[in-house]
Amino acid sequence: MIKKISWKLFFTYIIIIIIFAISIELLATFHLRNYYIDYLASDLESTAHLIKDFLYKDISENNLFQIKSKTETLGKEIKTRITIVDIKGKVLSDSEENPTLMDNHADRPEIKEAMLGKTGKSIRYSFTLEIDMLYIAIPIVNDNHQILGAIRLALPLTEVNKNIGYLHRIVLSTTIIGLLIATLISIIISLNITKPIKEMTEISKKISKGDFSKKLKIHSQDEIGQLSLALNQMSEDLESKIKIISEDRNKIEVVLSSVIEGIAAIDKKGKLIICNNAFEKIIHCSQNKVLGRFHWEIIRNNQLNEILKETIQKGQTSTQEITVLFPQEKIFYASATPLGEKENIWGAVVVLNDITQIKKLEKMREEFIANISHELRTPLTSIQGFIETLKEGAINDPEKTQHFLEIIEKQSNRLNSLVEDILKLSKIESQEIVVNLQSTNLKELLDKVMAEFKEKIILKKIQISTNISPQFPLLKVDPEQIELALRNLLDNAIKYTPEKGEISISFLEREKDIYIEITDDGIGISQEHLPRIFERFYRVNKDRSRDLGGTGLGLAIVKHVVQAHKGTIGVDSTLGKGSKFFIILPKN
Ligand code: ADP
Repeated sequence: MIKKISWKLFFTYIIIIIIFAISIELLATFHLRNYYIDYLASDLESTAHLIKDFLYKDISENNLFQIKSKTETLGKEIKTRITIVDIKGKVLSDSEENPTLMDNHADRPEIKEAMLGKTGKSIRYSFTLEIDMLYIAIPIVNDNHQILGAIRLALPLTEVNKNIGYLHRIVLSTTIIGLLIATLISIIISLNITKPIKEMTEISKKISKGDFSKKLKIHSQDEIGQLSLALNQMSEDLESKIKIISEDRNKIEVVLSSVIEGIAAIDKKGKLIICNNAFEKIIHCSQNKVLGRFHWEIIRNNQLNEILKETIQKGQTSTQEITVLFPQEKIFYASATPLGEKENIWGAVVVLNDITQIKKLEKMREEFIANISHELRTPLTSIQGFIETLKEGAINDPEKTQHFLEIIEKQSNRLNSLVEDILKLSKIESQEIVVNLQSTNLKELLDKVMAEFKEKIILKKIQISTNISPQFPLLKVDPEQIELALRNLLDNAIKYTPEKGEISISFLEREKDIYIEITDDGIGISQEHLPRIFERFYRVNKDRSRDLGGTGLGLAIVKHVVQAHKGTIGVDSTLGKGSKFFIILPKN
């Protein structure tokens, strides 16, 4: 199958040229043959007139002998057959045959014509000679205008055919040469015509692939030139429009990718048409694989799929809290809105807001309240109980009274320190309280705190060592809060270290920060408790902590103080061997 237009053009040309060449060939041969025969016929007619004049006397006198001998002689000389017939068609003489053996010639078409006084002409196939013959007959008319007979000359057309064949070969070879030249010219023409079309095809293919770098050269002002011009213009327009569209798209993509909310849009059929990075992370898949696919194939969360389906079906905004379990459990506030007019909804967009932290805080707050109530209720119940017992008569027993009052005092102290710790914690946690940064001498702060615990240290015979360089710098911190943190850490170290234990405190100035470490060789903490040790009210052993006057809020307070100073806190501990608490504070 011919696909290329150049080939189509070429073959069209060739077919036209061949038809043309054949027509020329046929016409030329036909006309040349006719012309040649006419020429021979008129030549024969002239010769016949000459012979008629030459033989007229003998014919009019009916001198058969003379007629015969002259006919034979003349026929040989002019190499043409001469036949003389009388008015009835009887052959009087023939230059090549015996007239007595010949048929009557009255029925021969040329003789018939001649007998009517005209020049008769006929071309017939001679069965005797097996060739085409040209016959010319003229009448022999006397002075009284009477037709006496006819002279007929006959010439074989072999020569004509030979000459025509020769001419035919000349015409044929000329046609073939012409055909070859025409072929060459038609190839050049068809290639020239199709070259710009080819260029246009290539450029159009490039344009369709988004490559607008190549432009067409304008070779002419004709229709092809105009088309090239229009194509160049179209390419430019398309390029600028695509640029505008892609710029707009880029802007939208940047905006979408920078928002922290997960955003996705689907069309009416449920296929994903837009999805931002945050959404990808939430549903845990990559963007180029999800676009164009149905949301239920991609999103492995029934709640989210349902809300999207419902929005498309009902054409109403719907919201719901959804829980995503993978890769980690998170809670999102999903809000799906239909896209388009009420009668013509073409899609829906869903926005996922991560509310895990809010939910966690809510839960923590609830737990905190529950914990506070519980922690407060315990000493209060105890105080209430002993007061009741005293009122019921125990007050009369001085020994019991003393004992109960001691318990009441202990419980109210505990209540007091609990309320104090809660207040401290809420004060630090409260965002309204700003850290009051002042140049502080940490060594002085530590000395002050250590002085507060002097009695306890002596009582428990604890060995305490400090390691602070004399050039330790002043640090911009909130002195009150850091004092509180140091107090809590030292309090714990003393509380959870048995008698004759050792505590060491070191302050280290490093390149970018200050490193504070409080180590004890006390009871230590087993590994499973370490991750939760800084939570509010978290205690490894509730009863022991209570006995020691602990509230379970000390480390939570320390953690908040350190965080308020943009620092970090950590613990390293082995059960039965001791603990190491460290704080890293940035140098401003
Ligand atoms: P508490 O008032 O109970 O001491 P904290 O918040 O200060 O509360 O400490 C939480 C828990 O961490 C304590 O109950 C205790 O089990 C453990 N802990 C804190 N410091 C130490 C320490 N230095 N050695 C061993 N255990 C400690």
